[in-house]
Amino acid sequence: LLSPNGGLGVTIFEEMTMLALSAGAINLGQGFPDEDGPAEIKAAAQAAIAAGVNQYAPGKGLAVLREAVAAHQQRFYGLTPDPETEVIVTTGATEGIAAALLAFIEPGDEVLTFEPFYDSYGAIIGMAGGRHVTAPLLAPDFMPDLDALESAFSSRTKAVLLNNPHNPTGAVFPREVLSRIVELATKYGALIISDEVYEHLTFGVKHLPVATIPGAAERTITISSAGKTFSFTGWKIGWLSGPQQLVAAVRTVKQFLTYSSGTPFQGAIAVGLGLPDDFYTGIASTLQHKRDILAEGLTAAGFGVYSPKGTYFINVDTAPLGITDSVDLARRLPGLVGVAAIPVPVFCHPEGAERTRSLLRFAFCKKTEVLEEAASRLATLR
Ligand code: PMP
Ligand code: GLN
Repeated sequence: LLSPNGGLGVTIFEEMTMLALSAGAINLGQGFPDEDGPAEIKAAAQAAIAAGVNQYAPGKGLAVLREAVAAHQQRFYGLTPDPETEVIVTTGATEGIAAALLAFIEPGDEVLTFEPFYDSYGAIIGMAGGRHVTAPLLAPDFMPDLDALESAFSSRTKAVLLNNPHNPTGAVFPREVLSRIVELATKYGALIISDEVYEHLTFGVKHLPVATIPGAAERTITISSAGKTFSFTGWKIGWLSGPQQLVAAVRTVKQFLTYSSGTPFQGAIAVGLGLPDDFYTGIASTLQHKRDILAEGLTAAGFGVYSPKGTYFINVDTAPLGITDSVDLARRLPGLVGVAAIPVPVFCHPEGAERTRSLLRFAFCKKTEVLEEAASRLATLR
Protein backbone atom coordinates (compact mmCIF):
# COMPACT_ATOMS: atom_id res chain seq x y z
CA LEU A 1 0.00 0.00 0.00
CA LEU A 2 2.57 2.54 1.09
CA SER A 3 5.04 2.20 -1.70
CA PRO A 4 4.29 2.21 -5.38
CA ASN A 5 7.68 0.71 -6.06
CA GLY A 6 7.51 -2.73 -4.57
CA GLY A 7 8.29 -3.09 -0.94
CA LEU A 8 10.30 -0.13 0.26
CA GLY A 9 9.46 0.41 3.92
CA VAL A 10 10.57 4.05 3.92
CA THR A 11 10.04 6.66 1.25
CA ILE A 12 12.56 6.77 -1.54
CA PHE A 13 13.62 10.24 -0.36
CA GLU A 14 14.45 8.97 3.08
CA GLU A 15 16.20 5.89 1.73
CA MET A 16 18.42 7.89 -0.62
CA THR A 17 19.18 10.58 1.97
CA MET A 18 20.27 7.87 4.45
CA LEU A 19 22.47 6.30 1.77
CA ALA A 20 23.97 9.71 0.93
CA LEU A 21 24.71 10.39 4.60
CA SER A 22 26.32 7.02 5.25
CA ALA A 23 28.45 7.26 2.10
CA GLY A 24 29.30 10.95 2.66
CA ALA A 25 27.86 11.59 -0.81
CA ILE A 26 26.53 14.79 -2.37
CA ASN A 27 22.76 14.51 -2.01
CA LEU A 28 21.04 15.39 -5.28
CA GLY A 29 18.24 13.00 -4.35
CA GLN A 30 15.72 14.46 -1.92
CA GLY A 31 14.69 17.91 -3.13
CA PHE A 32 15.69 20.52 -0.57
CA PRO A 33 17.88 23.61 -0.99
CA ASP A 34 21.28 23.83 0.70
CA GLU A 35 20.79 27.52 1.55
CA ASP A 36 18.15 29.20 3.69
CA GLY A 37 15.52 31.48 2.24
CA PRO A 38 15.18 35.27 2.75
CA ALA A 39 16.59 36.72 5.98
CA GLU A 40 13.47 38.80 6.64
CA ILE A 41 11.30 35.67 6.73
CA LYS A 42 13.66 33.99 9.18
CA ALA A 43 13.79 37.14 11.32
CA ALA A 44 9.98 37.32 11.37
CA ALA A 45 9.78 33.73 12.68
CA GLN A 46 12.46 34.41 15.30
CA ALA A 47 10.65 37.58 16.41
CA ALA A 48 7.33 35.71 16.66
CA ILE A 49 8.90 32.98 18.80
CA ALA A 50 10.55 35.60 21.03
CA ALA A 51 7.23 37.46 21.33
CA GLY A 52 5.45 34.33 22.56
CA VAL A 53 3.53 33.39 19.41
CA ASN A 54 3.95 29.75 20.35
CA GLN A 55 0.53 28.23 21.01
CA TYR A 56 -2.03 26.65 18.67
CA ALA A 57 -3.02 28.64 15.62
CA PRO A 58 -6.71 28.51 14.65
CA GLY A 59 -7.51 25.30 12.73
CA LYS A 60 -7.85 27.13 9.44
CA GLY A 61 -4.60 29.07 10.01
CA LEU A 62 -3.62 32.58 11.11
CA ALA A 63 -5.70 35.27 9.43
CA VAL A 64 -2.56 37.13 8.37
CA LEU A 65 -1.38 34.13 6.34
CA ARG A 66 -4.81 33.36 4.84
CA GLU A 67 -5.03 37.00 3.77
CA ALA A 68 -1.52 36.85 2.31
CA VAL A 69 -2.39 33.69 0.36
CA ALA A 70 -5.53 35.35 -1.05
CA ALA A 71 -3.53 38.46 -1.99
CA HIS A 72 -0.88 36.26 -3.66
CA GLN A 73 -3.51 34.43 -5.75
CA GLN A 74 -4.91 37.78 -6.86
CA ARG A 75 -1.54 39.39 -7.54
CA PHE A 76 -0.10 36.59 -9.65
CA TYR A 77 -3.17 34.97 -11.19
CA GLY A 78 -6.19 37.25 -10.79
CA LEU A 79 -7.92 34.67 -8.57
CA THR A 80 -9.92 36.08 -5.66
CA PRO A 81 -10.46 33.48 -2.92
CA ASP A 82 -12.15 34.78 0.25
CA PRO A 83 -9.51 34.45 3.02
CA GLU A 84 -12.23 33.70 5.59
CA THR A 85 -13.94 30.80 3.84
CA GLU A 86 -11.94 29.81 0.77
CA VAL A 87 -8.37 29.48 2.09
CA ILE A 88 -6.90 27.22 4.76
CA VAL A 89 -3.36 26.74 6.03
CA THR A 90 -2.03 23.17 6.10
CA THR A 91 1.02 21.33 7.42
CA GLY A 92 2.88 21.51 4.13
CA ALA A 93 1.32 20.67 0.81
CA THR A 94 1.52 17.04 1.92
CA GLU A 95 -1.29 17.52 4.42
CA GLY A 96 -3.36 19.51 1.93
CA ILE A 97 -3.13 16.65 -0.56
CA ALA A 98 -3.97 14.06 2.10
CA ALA A 99 -6.87 16.02 3.58
CA ALA A 100 -8.36 16.71 0.14
CA LEU A 101 -8.19 13.07 -0.92
CA LEU A 102 -9.52 11.78 2.40
CA ALA A 103 -12.35 14.32 2.22
CA PHE A 104 -13.59 13.34 -1.22
CA ILE A 105 -12.49 9.82 -2.09
CA GLU A 106 -14.72 6.90 -1.11
CA PRO A 107 -13.64 3.28 -1.50
CA GLY A 108 -13.71 2.33 -5.16
CA ASP A 109 -13.56 5.90 -6.50
CA GLU A 110 -10.95 6.45 -9.17
CA VAL A 111 -8.30 9.14 -8.85
CA LEU A 112 -6.41 10.05 -11.98
CA THR A 113 -2.81 11.26 -11.96
CA PHE A 114 -0.10 11.53 -14.51
CA GLU A 115 2.68 8.96 -14.32
CA PRO A 116 5.37 9.27 -13.01
CA PHE A 117 3.66 10.71 -9.92
CA TYR A 118 4.86 12.21 -6.62
CA ASP A 119 5.16 9.40 -4.08
CA SER A 120 2.60 10.58 -1.52
CA TYR A 121 -0.18 10.50 -4.14
CA GLY A 122 -0.20 6.73 -4.48
CA ALA A 123 0.01 6.20 -0.72
CA ILE A 124 -2.88 8.52 0.15
CA ILE A 125 -5.12 7.35 -2.66
CA GLY A 126 -4.56 3.87 -1.22
CA MET A 127 -5.32 4.98 2.35
CA ALA A 128 -8.56 6.57 1.14
CA GLY A 129 -9.52 3.27 -0.52
CA GLY A 130 -9.40 4.82 -3.98
CA ARG A 131 -8.27 3.27 -7.22
CA HIS A 132 -5.25 4.99 -8.72
CA VAL A 133 -5.50 5.37 -12.50
CA THR A 134 -2.64 6.94 -14.43
CA ALA A 135 -1.96 8.59 -17.78
CA PRO A 136 1.66 8.52 -18.93
CA LEU A 137 3.96 11.48 -19.51
CA LEU A 138 6.41 10.64 -22.23
CA ALA A 139 10.00 11.73 -22.86
CA PRO A 140 11.44 13.93 -24.22
CA ASP A 141 9.05 16.72 -23.16
CA PHE A 142 6.95 14.69 -20.66
CA MET A 143 3.63 15.90 -22.05
CA PRO A 144 0.58 13.60 -21.96
CA ASP A 145 -0.96 12.09 -25.05
CA LEU A 146 -4.37 13.78 -24.92
CA ASP A 147 -6.22 10.74 -26.30
CA ALA A 148 -4.61 8.48 -23.69
CA LEU A 149 -5.59 11.05 -21.08
CA GLU A 150 -9.20 10.93 -22.22
CA SER A 151 -9.30 7.16 -22.14
CA ALA A 152 -8.05 7.18 -18.54
CA PHE A 153 -11.29 8.92 -17.45
CA SER A 154 -14.37 6.85 -16.58
CA SER A 155 -17.72 7.30 -14.87
CA ARG A 156 -15.95 6.42 -11.61
CA THR A 157 -13.33 9.17 -11.89
CA LYS A 158 -13.88 11.20 -8.73
CA ALA A 159 -10.84 13.45 -8.92
CA VAL A 160 -7.91 14.41 -11.08
CA LEU A 161 -4.87 14.96 -8.90
CA LEU A 162 -2.79 17.27 -11.05
CA ASN A 163 0.77 18.34 -10.31
CA ASN A 164 1.91 21.40 -12.25
CA PRO A 165 4.87 22.17 -12.50
CA HIS A 166 5.46 18.45 -12.35
CA ASN A 167 7.67 16.44 -10.03
CA PRO A 168 9.67 14.38 -11.02
CA THR A 169 9.71 15.29 -14.74
CA GLY A 170 9.99 19.10 -14.53
CA ALA A 171 7.19 19.51 -17.10
CA VAL A 172 5.12 22.71 -17.02
CA PHE A 173 1.74 22.11 -18.62
CA PRO A 174 0.51 24.60 -21.22
CA ARG A 175 -3.02 25.94 -21.56
CA GLU A 176 -3.93 23.30 -24.16
CA VAL A 177 -3.27 20.42 -21.74
CA LEU A 178 -4.96 22.17 -18.80
CA SER A 179 -8.01 23.03 -20.89
CA ARG A 180 -8.41 19.40 -21.91
CA ILE A 181 -8.18 18.30 -18.27
CA VAL A 182 -10.88 20.81 -17.32
CA GLU A 183 -13.08 19.73 -20.23
CA LEU A 184 -12.77 16.06 -19.26
CA ALA A 185 -13.19 16.70 -15.53
CA THR A 186 -16.37 18.62 -16.33
CA LYS A 187 -17.66 15.90 -18.66
CA TYR A 188 -17.08 13.19 -16.04
CA GLY A 189 -18.08 15.28 -13.01
CA ALA A 190 -14.62 15.02 -11.41
CA LEU A 191 -12.93 17.37 -8.98
CA ILE A 192 -9.49 18.78 -9.76
CA ILE A 193 -6.96 18.80 -6.94
CA SER A 194 -3.97 20.75 -8.19
CA ASP A 195 -0.60 20.58 -6.46
CA GLU A 196 1.30 23.70 -7.53
CA VAL A 197 4.17 23.75 -5.02
CA TYR A 198 6.66 24.65 -7.78
CA GLU A 199 4.49 27.52 -9.10
CA HIS A 200 7.29 30.09 -8.92
CA LEU A 201 10.07 27.80 -10.13
CA THR A 202 9.65 27.98 -13.90
CA PHE A 203 12.19 28.86 -16.56
CA GLY A 204 11.18 30.95 -19.54
CA VAL A 205 7.51 29.95 -19.22
CA LYS A 206 4.81 31.24 -16.91
CA HIS A 207 2.95 28.96 -14.55
CA LEU A 208 -0.75 28.80 -15.32
CA PRO A 209 -2.92 27.62 -12.41
CA VAL A 210 -5.60 25.26 -13.64
CA ALA A 211 -8.15 27.24 -11.58
CA THR A 212 -7.77 30.12 -14.06
CA ILE A 213 -9.02 28.02 -16.98
CA PRO A 214 -12.67 28.90 -17.72
CA GLY A 215 -15.02 26.47 -15.99
CA ALA A 216 -12.35 25.09 -13.66
CA ALA A 217 -12.63 27.21 -10.51
CA GLU A 218 -15.89 25.70 -9.26
CA ARG A 219 -14.38 22.18 -9.14
CA THR A 220 -10.75 22.95 -8.27
CA ILE A 221 -8.73 22.94 -5.07
CA THR A 222 -5.33 24.59 -5.53
CA ILE A 223 -2.57 23.52 -3.17
CA SER A 224 0.82 25.11 -2.57
CA SER A 225 3.43 25.55 0.11
CA ALA A 226 6.26 27.71 1.38
CA GLY A 227 8.90 24.99 1.19
CA LYS A 228 9.96 25.46 -2.39
CA THR A 229 9.20 29.15 -3.01
CA PHE A 230 10.94 30.36 0.14
CA SER A 231 13.50 27.57 0.70
CA PHE A 232 12.11 26.60 4.09
CA THR A 233 11.12 22.99 3.42
CA GLY A 234 11.46 22.09 7.10
CA TRP A 235 8.83 24.57 8.26
CA LYS A 236 6.02 22.63 6.57
CA ILE A 237 3.74 25.60 5.99
CA GLY A 238 1.28 24.94 3.17
CA TRP A 239 -2.12 26.21 2.10
CA LEU A 240 -4.99 25.54 -0.22
CA SER A 241 -7.79 27.53 -1.79
CA GLY A 242 -10.97 26.80 -3.69
CA PRO A 243 -14.74 27.08 -3.50
CA GLN A 244 -16.14 27.43 0.01
CA GLN A 245 -17.94 24.07 0.13
CA LEU A 246 -14.92 22.11 -1.04
CA VAL A 247 -12.55 23.94 1.31
CA ALA A 248 -14.93 23.35 4.23
CA ALA A 249 -14.89 19.60 3.55
CA VAL A 250 -11.08 19.55 3.47
CA ARG A 251 -10.94 21.58 6.65
CA THR A 252 -13.15 19.07 8.42
CA VAL A 253 -10.63 16.32 7.68
CA LYS A 254 -7.64 18.53 8.42
CA GLN A 255 -8.93 19.18 11.95
CA PHE A 256 -8.36 15.52 12.77
CA LEU A 257 -5.01 15.12 11.03
CA THR A 258 -2.99 17.90 12.68
CA TYR A 259 -5.61 20.49 13.68
CA SER A 260 -2.96 23.21 13.17
CA SER A 261 0.81 23.63 13.19
CA GLY A 262 3.75 26.03 13.03
CA THR A 263 2.10 29.16 14.48
CA PRO A 264 5.22 31.42 14.50
CA PHE A 265 6.16 30.25 11.00
CA GLN A 266 2.73 31.05 9.56
CA GLY A 267 3.10 34.80 10.14
CA ALA A 268 6.66 34.70 8.79
CA ILE A 269 5.50 33.11 5.55
CA ALA A 270 2.86 35.84 5.24
CA VAL A 271 5.83 38.24 5.13
CA GLY A 272 7.36 36.13 2.36
CA LEU A 273 4.20 36.13 0.26
CA GLY A 274 4.29 39.92 0.36
CA LEU A 275 7.86 40.20 -0.98
CA PRO A 276 8.20 42.32 -4.14
CA ASP A 277 8.20 40.86 -7.65
CA ASP A 278 11.99 40.90 -7.96
CA PHE A 279 12.21 38.27 -5.21
CA TYR A 280 10.07 35.95 -7.31
CA THR A 281 11.86 36.60 -10.59
CA GLY A 282 15.17 36.29 -8.72
CA ILE A 283 14.51 32.80 -7.37
CA ALA A 284 13.54 31.56 -10.83
CA SER A 285 16.57 33.02 -12.57
CA THR A 286 18.99 31.79 -9.89
CA LEU A 287 17.54 28.34 -10.21
CA GLN A 288 17.61 28.43 -14.00
CA HIS A 289 21.33 29.12 -13.81
CA LYS A 290 21.78 26.11 -11.48
CA ARG A 291 19.73 23.97 -13.87
CA ASP A 292 22.01 24.93 -16.74
CA ILE A 293 25.18 24.17 -14.79
CA LEU A 294 23.96 20.72 -13.80
CA ALA A 295 22.52 19.99 -17.26
CA GLU A 296 25.86 20.82 -18.84
CA GLY A 297 27.75 18.66 -16.34
CA LEU A 298 25.40 15.70 -16.79
CA THR A 299 25.66 15.98 -20.57
CA ALA A 300 29.45 16.02 -20.33
CA ALA A 301 29.22 12.94 -18.06
CA GLY A 302 27.48 11.10 -20.90
CA PHE A 303 23.85 11.03 -19.74
CA GLY A 304 20.92 11.82 -22.01
CA VAL A 305 19.63 15.01 -20.37
CA TYR A 306 16.02 16.26 -20.33
CA SER A 307 16.36 19.89 -19.28
CA PRO A 308 13.16 20.90 -17.43
CA LYS A 309 10.95 24.00 -17.79
CA GLY A 310 10.18 24.02 -14.07
CA THR A 311 10.77 22.51 -10.56
CA TYR A 312 14.22 21.74 -9.28
CA PHE A 313 14.70 18.40 -10.91
CA ILE A 314 16.54 17.21 -14.02
CA ASN A 315 15.75 13.76 -15.43
CA VAL A 316 18.47 11.91 -17.28
CA ASP A 317 18.58 8.75 -19.31
CA THR A 318 21.34 6.40 -18.15
CA ALA A 319 21.07 4.18 -21.25
CA PRO A 320 23.76 6.09 -23.22
CA LEU A 321 26.17 4.97 -20.48
CA GLY A 322 25.11 1.36 -21.01
CA ILE A 323 23.12 1.35 -17.74
CA THR A 324 19.50 0.28 -18.01
CA ASP A 325 18.37 -0.19 -14.40
CA SER A 326 18.20 3.19 -12.64
CA VAL A 327 16.86 1.71 -9.38
CA ASP A 328 19.93 -0.48 -9.07
CA LEU A 329 22.20 2.38 -10.13
CA ALA A 330 20.65 4.80 -7.58
CA ARG A 331 21.31 2.33 -4.77
CA ARG A 332 24.96 1.93 -5.83
CA LEU A 333 25.70 5.50 -6.91
CA PRO A 334 26.50 7.04 -3.48
CA GLY A 335 29.13 4.38 -2.80
CA LEU A 336 30.33 4.27 -6.39
CA VAL A 337 30.98 7.96 -7.09
CA GLY A 338 29.69 9.88 -4.05
CA VAL A 339 26.46 11.29 -5.49
CA ALA A 340 22.85 10.41 -4.61
CA ALA A 341 19.89 10.65 -7.00
CA ILE A 342 16.33 9.32 -7.20
CA PRO A 343 15.32 6.61 -9.70
CA VAL A 344 12.20 7.62 -11.66
CA PRO A 345 10.60 4.12 -11.77
CA VAL A 346 9.75 4.45 -8.05
CA PHE A 347 7.24 7.14 -9.06
CA CYS A 348 5.38 4.64 -11.25
CA HIS A 349 3.18 1.56 -11.33
CA PRO A 350 4.84 -1.52 -12.90
CA GLU A 351 4.13 -0.67 -16.54
CA GLY A 352 5.34 2.90 -16.14
CA ALA A 353 8.35 1.64 -14.20
CA GLU A 354 9.31 -0.46 -17.21
CA ARG A 355 8.95 2.59 -19.49
CA THR A 356 11.12 4.78 -17.22
CA ARG A 357 13.56 2.03 -16.29
CA SER A 358 16.69 3.97 -17.23
CA LEU A 359 15.61 7.39 -15.92
CA LEU A 360 17.21 9.05 -12.92
CA ARG A 361 16.23 12.34 -11.21
CA PHE A 362 18.81 14.85 -9.94
CA ALA A 363 17.92 17.89 -7.78
CA PHE A 364 19.73 21.10 -8.72
CA CYS A 365 18.62 23.33 -5.79
CA LYS A 366 22.21 23.34 -4.50
CA LYS A 367 25.18 25.71 -4.52
CA THR A 368 26.83 25.91 -7.94
CA GLU A 369 30.12 24.54 -6.65
CA VAL A 370 28.27 21.53 -5.25
CA LEU A 371 26.62 20.92 -8.63
CA GLU A 372 29.97 21.21 -10.39
CA GLU A 373 31.61 18.78 -7.98
CA ALA A 374 28.72 16.32 -8.39
CA ALA A 375 28.99 16.50 -12.18
CA SER A 376 32.72 15.86 -12.12
CA ARG A 377 32.23 12.84 -9.85
CA LEU A 378 29.53 11.51 -12.17
CA ALA A 379 31.88 11.91 -15.14
CA THR A 380 33.97 9.07 -13.64
CA LEU A 381 31.10 6.63 -14.33
CA ARG A 382 32.15 6.29 -17.98
N1 PMP B 1 4.01 17.96 -3.86
C1 PMP B 1 5.10 17.86 -4.62
C2 PMP B 1 4.95 17.70 -6.09
C3 PMP B 1 6.37 17.90 -4.04
O1 PMP B 1 7.45 17.79 -4.79
C4 PMP B 1 6.48 18.04 -2.65
C5 PMP B 1 7.81 18.07 -1.99
N2 PMP B 1 8.15 19.39 -1.82
C6 PMP B 1 5.31 18.15 -1.90
C7 PMP B 1 4.09 18.09 -2.52
C8 PMP B 1 5.34 18.29 -0.41
O2 PMP B 1 5.36 19.61 -0.03
P1 PMP B 1 5.48 20.02 1.52
O3 PMP B 1 6.88 19.82 1.90
O4 PMP B 1 5.03 21.43 1.53
O5 PMP B 1 4.57 19.12 2.28
N1 GLN C 1 9.41 16.80 -2.49
C1 GLN C 1 10.75 16.32 -2.24
C2 GLN C 1 11.24 15.60 -3.48
O1 GLN C 1 10.51 15.32 -4.38
C3 GLN C 1 10.85 15.34 -1.10
C4 GLN C 1 9.98 15.55 0.06
C5 GLN C 1 10.07 14.36 0.99
O2 GLN C 1 11.12 13.92 1.36
N2 GLN C 1 8.94 13.82 1.31
O3 GLN C 1 12.40 15.28 -3.54
